[in-house]
Amino acid sequence: MPLSTKAPLGPEPLWKPHPRSQVARLPVYLDHHSTTPVDPRVAKAVIAAIMETFGNPHATENAYGTAASELLELARKKVADLVLADRSWVSFTSGSTEAIRLAVEHACRQATDKPFRIALTRLEHRAVLDAVQHAALEHGAEITWLPVDGAGRLDRAFLTAALRRGVHLVCVMAANNEIGTVYPVQAIAAEARQHGAAMLVDATQAAGLREFRLNESEIDYFVISSHKLYGPKGAGALISTASPVSWSSILWARPGTPNLPGIVGLGEACRLAANERAEDARRIASLRDWLQSLLVAGIPGLVVNGATEDRLENNLHIALPDAPNDAVIARTQAIVAVSTGSACASGSHQPSHVLQAIGLSADLQDGALRLGLGRFTTLPEIDHAAAAIISAVADVRSSMTRQ
Ligand code: PLP
Repeated sequence: MPLSTKAPLGPEPLWKPHPRSQVARLPVYLDHHSTTPVDPRVAKAVIAAIMETFGNPHATENAYGTAASELLELARKKVADLVLADRSWVSFTSGSTEAIRLAVEHACRQATDKPFRIALTRLEHRAVLDAVQHAALEHGAEITWLPVDGAGRLDRAFLTAALRRGVHLVCVMAANNEIGTVYPVQAIAAEARQHGAAMLVDATQAAGLREFRLNESEIDYFVISSHKLYGPKGAGALISTASPVSWSSILWARPGTPNLPGIVGLGEACRLAANERAEDARRIASLRDWLQSLLVAGIPGLVVNGATEDRLENNLHIALPDAPNDAVIARTQAIVAVSTGSACASGSHQPSHVLQAIGLSADLQDGALRLGLGRFTTLPEIDHAAAAIISAVADVRSSMTRQ
């Protein structure tokens, strides 16, 4: 607990939420799959951790260290509570990428028979694809690619056949970060367990919107990231029934001094998500549906990607035939912040591996836009963003026909 109850920041707070008027001058933020703004309530907890509880959580022989250690353990409990896990299952990491690497490496080292076999789809996040690639190079792991359909849905019959042939680790994300398709990970984990395979679930995008009950599931490795949950960047967790003791043999450099402010932020973000997730999901989905209806009505030929019957509540992934996304973004970027795909794909201007894997045509890939709504998105913002996108697409199309 904080050692001081005095107002620690002096008369002028160092941080306060943006007044709405200030935010209104910024483009409408519809890129929540990339990262989320920090919730002011999370920021308050982080600042208190920085300013008041600055002790080293490992220095428990003094009062400052003890206070910091207690705060760390409280955060661990909040993370565990979000997904109905035991707090001893929670290992803190710098984010999902590190947690995924840790999980894949751990699973590889656990296996007694070789070669280690991993089954996954090509729709997994780059962090999983890279970790699996590393396992292939370092441990000679064999990869089975699981087919998907045009909405990104997994071919369960193929998975069953692969499990029968022998798989050690199945990696299926809880929801895709581009097209929003949600996967029945608890059911898949149960099937994997029946065949003796471990299951890694990258829940980076889904943890703030969907319910998970790890105490009732057969998921072996579950991954979350603070900055996708309205927490600060640089904190995440691997939640696993595997003993945390075994992590230290993999990450020999850990555990160093923990990133207490980040971990406190992650914990508070998880506490808020546990309390508000259902209401957030309902409200955000209705805004997303409204945005979709505006765009479908205003843009002839618009295609909605992903599994529309079960997709993340905050996700709207569209493809605009005959309207290249870079031209649309160039016209709208002062009004609305959207993305053409996953951060790494858009950063390096590579075609999106997800859109390629679902077999989207080249023209539709060129016109792909990912719109991601969030906890603070408002109806006027949606109306404003939709009007800007509709008029930009009309302008791009008419300038292309004039050429
Ligand atoms: N997995 C998914 C599905 C993601 O969307 C991301 C980030 O975009 C990651 C993993 C990597 O997360 P982090 O930035 O915490 O390393």
